[in-house]
Amino acid sequence: MYNPRSSKAEEFISHQEVLETLEYAEKNKNNVQLIDRIIEKAKLRKGLSHREAAVLLDCQLEEKNKEIYALAQQIKKDFYGNRIVMFAPLYLSNYCVNGCVYCPYHMKNKNITRKKMTQDEIRREVIALQDMGHKRLAIEAGEDPVNNPIEYILECIDTIYSIKHKNGAIRRVNVNIAATTVENYKKLKDAGIGTYILFQETYHKDSYEKLHPTGPKHNYAYHTEAMDRAMLGGIDDVGLGVLFGLELYRYEFAALLMHAEHLEAALGVGPHTISVPRIRPADDVDPASFSNSINDDIFAKIVACIRISVPYTGMIVSTRESKACRERVLHLGISQISGASKTSVGGYCEPEPEDENTAQFDVNDRRTLDEVIKWLMEMDYIPSFCTACYREGRTGDRFMSLCKSGQILNCCHPNALMTLKEYLEDYASPETKAIGEALIQKEIPNIPKEKVREIVKENLINISKGSRDFRF
Ligand code: SF4
Repeated sequence: MYNPRSSKAEEFISHQEVLETLEYAEKNKNNVQLIDRIIEKAKLRKGLSHREAAVLLDCQLEEKNKEIYALAQQIKKDFYGNRIVMFAPLYLSNYCVNGCVYCPYHMKNKNITRKKMTQDEIRREVIALQDMGHKRLAIEAGEDPVNNPIEYILECIDTIYSIKHKNGAIRRVNVNIAATTVENYKKLKDAGIGTYILFQETYHKDSYEKLHPTGPKHNYAYHTEAMDRAMLGGIDDVGLGVLFGLELYRYEFAALLMHAEHLEAALGVGPHTISVPRIRPADDVDPASFSNSINDDIFAKIVACIRISVPYTGMIVSTRESKACRERVLHLGISQISGASKTSVGGYCEPEPEDENTAQFDVNDRRTLDEVIKWLMEMDYIPSFCTACYREGRTGDRFMSLCKSGQILNCCHPNALMTLKEYLEDYASPETKAIGEALIQKEIPNIPKEKVREIVKENLINISKGSRDFRF
């Protein structure tokens, strides 16, 4: 039975409820009156239920779909303005004891080089990332209690935070490691992590068990209930995601929103972010062998429908997607993107040697960070390197209440401009810098409060003079 408050995976992601939702959506996909009512509700910017969202996802009516896309764009602007948060992944180790059939790190794959970075190697990688201008990382590692125990992850986090190179610093480390215990989540919290990210891969239990035939990840309930344990361990911000292509996208979409509803109902705070990865080619992984892959149109519709269903949740798209695809979904709801990513273990400091092959997937967007920043600014987006919320305690329900009331704009817009200015001064090419300076001048009048505007102006001048001691 469906019960969003339950702590049991099979009750908050009730298979029966997903099936009934899909049936309801199919039956109503051309029901104009109902679709109008759902769109009207979405305009209130308080979100939609998974059933309502599923109807919009299935909607076949061209005019209504135009309204859905327009609303997604408007909600994106209202909650996130024109800011895009930047980050980079850092793969620590590709040792893994699991058997995930869609991932080259699976234990039986003998074609790839197994590698785990030492603290010295991590130092070199972090310096290379800082030299590009990154301030926010997402660390990734396979599941391996011997090679990648929690102590190793904690040591890596410590190393990353400790490196201050020139004006660089990694100010927020998000963590994407396997489902673990409340005790270990407490340790991650104490290490000062930002968001704990764990992709569900698929919510369909039978498929999940087939796709994860061996290893601890085979346990569907343990994996699906991980966010509950993370929050019990004190982690305020969690990030959800599915790997589109493994199962029917309609199933994943409904279940993903049910998971978000569960976190809100049972733990009082919805997900901080939702990621929308699609399967990519990799060693031992051919996307064509997965029959549920989705095209760019469906991908865009999913992004738009998530945007209007959970308006206050950030949305992430990585370099799995091409420049053109990223451009399309940025307008529809994406608030955070990676840039200049390497999916190998190491590879930022020096390119991976030809005889090594440690990547988790082929990157689609291979541009440098400077090129990505320039591209965003040419579309009038403000690339933001801000990490202030987490350091100022604006996390969990505090962040959500600011976000839901729309007040987060007052913090984010000034912070985005100041961190962009910092990037332009320290790392940008002359051409990117010129575009950025013009954009900042254009944006200053849009800062909502006169007093805040004055503080920003003062700090922008200080940053130009070399000071990095500015207020957030
Ligand atoms: S998806 Fe994660 S758990 Fe599965 S094989 Fe890859 S690294 Fe290991």
